[in-house]
Amino acid sequence: MTTRYADFYRQSIDQPEAFWAEQARLIDWQTPPAQICDYSNPPFARWYAGGTTNLCHNAVDRHLADRADQPALVAISTETDSERSYSFAELHAEVQRMAAVLLALGVTKGDRVLIYMPMVAEAAFAMLACTRIGALHSVVFGGFASGSLASRIEDAEPVAVVSADAGSRGGKVVPYKPLLDEAIAQSRHKPQAVLMVNRGMAPMPLHPGRDHDWAALRAQHLDATVPCEWVDATHPSYTLYTSGTTGKPKGVQRDTGGYAVALAASMQHIFDAKPGDTYFATSDIGWVVGHSYIVYGPLIAGMTTIMYEGLPIRPDAGVWWSIVEKYRVTHMFSAPTAVRVLKKQDASWLRKYDVSSLKALWLAGEPLDEPTAQWISDALQVPIIDNYWQTETGWPILTLANGVEPQTTRFGSPGKAMYGYAVKLIDESTGEELTGAHQKGVVAIEGPLPPGCMQTVWRDDQRFVNTYWKSIPGKLIYSTFDWGIRDADGYHFILGRTDDVINVAGHRLGTREIEESIASHPNIAEVAVVGVADALKGQVAMAFAVARDASGLGDPAARLKLEGEVMQRVDQQLGAVARPSRVHFVTVLPKTRSGKLLRRALQAVAERRDPGDLTTMEDPAALQQVRELVGQGG
Ligand code: ATP
Ligand code: MG
Repeated sequence: MTTRYADFYRQSIDQPEAFWAEQARLIDWQTPPAQICDYSNPPFARWYAGGTTNLCHNAVDRHLADRADQPALVAISTETDSERSYSFAELHAEVQRMAAVLLALGVTKGDRVLIYMPMVAEAAFAMLACTRIGALHSVVFGGFASGSLASRIEDAEPVAVVSADAGSRGGKVVPYKPLLDEAIAQSRHKPQAVLMVNRGMAPMPLHPGRDHDWAALRAQHLDATVPCEWVDATHPSYTLYTSGTTGKPKGVQRDTGGYAVALAASMQHIFDAKPGDTYFATSDIGWVVGHSYIVYGPLIAGMTTIMYEGLPIRPDAGVWWSIVEKYRVTHMFSAPTAVRVLKKQDASWLRKYDVSSLKALWLAGEPLDEPTAQWISDALQVPIIDNYWQTETGWPILTLANGVEPQTTRFGSPGKAMYGYAVKLIDESTGEELTGAHQKGVVAIEGPLPPGCMQTVWRDDQRFVNTYWKSIPGKLIYSTFDWGIRDADGYHFILGRTDDVINVAGHRLGTREIEESIASHPNIAEVAVVGVADALKGQVAMAFAVARDASGLGDPAARLKLEGEVMQRVDQQLGAVARPSRVHFVTVLPKTRSGKLLRRALQAVAERRDPGDLTTMEDPAALQQVRELVGQGG
């Protein structure tokens, strides 16, 4: 029996031109595209080439006729205890002011503007102002220090930088200006202009001639009208780095028309969203989720979007749900890592507020293990929907398209291949496609990638081809570098990154499977498993776990007991080959700034090697614990 979604998917793969021509109608075009996809030079796909449009127009101006007074952007900060709401009309005015200021600072079409900002409304104004005038934004996560920032300034060669005096995290003010000044000093490229938003939180001395105060320039352009620059659909809208979990981050370049269509389509088919709904993505504008589902996606769909500065547990673990109640949030998007933070708190916080407005909670960024999914599902009583994608793709590869046809969630699986993605599982060594159920292979996508996906690596077409399209022998196919299986109903399961597959005495195991098994122990909040070189077995699994209740674990006997219980679980669920050689207990795991486990660093330290580039890491202290543990007899 074929289902509605199965037909929809088939059409997208068998008749992509007709399918994506139809989707293109979801946005406004100045000149509608004559051609849908130019794939004459694979793997470079040119979606809607010849059509002209503008991202900012679709996100803002287009809604003025019907919803000028509806809130478009609500910026909430539990760090500064403030809430600011902008209607579409107000957002339109602010974006034009910002656009006028950028033009006055010398930014023109095709120039890059680097945005190094905390989660304040001005960051969204700056992004929209850039796309309005055809400039490319390059947002750098506000938590990065000067070294990471300097390398991104060098790579993007921005004409202007937009920044702020400070960000704040957990009540601690982080001054940005000294980091920015230091980064510009380090970088070979020097931006012409720096535009500073003063939040009144930290000193921000202005360099004469280079630095400008946003409030002062804004006041000069209060009544600015800056028309949208109509650009070709293939005109790049932005560059953005991947999280750097597996190595040096890659500079992803995105187009304009394909991206707008992909986001508009995802809002309808995946999120089942309507104009006037309210979207709350807890991510940061420094990541792809922030680009697609804090700024552009919800606004293109005529929704209200909530921007949040703060932690999930401050002032208390109920803060997100109080926002859901207050703003009647319909769509919430977060990450498993945030749920694991909440899981260490009392579940009653999730029941204190009325979250009945929520259609679902979508989670992405990392494997969502079954126990964590079950926990949040029980606590919130709303559907929990996993979705799997990458900075490179810009929108979900695997999830449930509930806007097309409601489907059942299977915990542990992000779901089915999304329309437009010809997802294949490939045998790594032979390059053969695996078509049977439950066969493990590399998750790959046949070209052309659908609209919205990366065009290329910024200024490095060769790296785009070599990195992503050449890893499978004898085939030009996009590799996600993740490993997965598919069941007979088309539900996929991600087993970890291809780098993370370990080989114990000839058995290939995904670290993810072992982590999932360990995480099912009631006293485990979070766990990372890495493969460690072993003279006898080639590799053995080693686990680093955070206990939910660590109060007794100072006692070696208690640690040993818990370690034994965990090992027994793995034995029972996966077999003795998968049993970790050790389960070490730590209070914090090394993560990227986007909250992903940094297994490569963990593995290096566990093997007493140099962990390499740690600039994308969140908390340097996390590795210290690991060093001490493995030094002591791991
Ligand atoms: P880099 O490519 O620089 O190493 P990264 O891969 O962590 O960094 P992102 O683009 O932020 O950068 O993350 C995408 C990756 O995150 C995916 O390839 C996958 O490994 C993981 N991921 C994302 N969502 C999910 C999910 N729902 N389930 C399992 N894994 C996921
Ligand atoms: Mg990646």
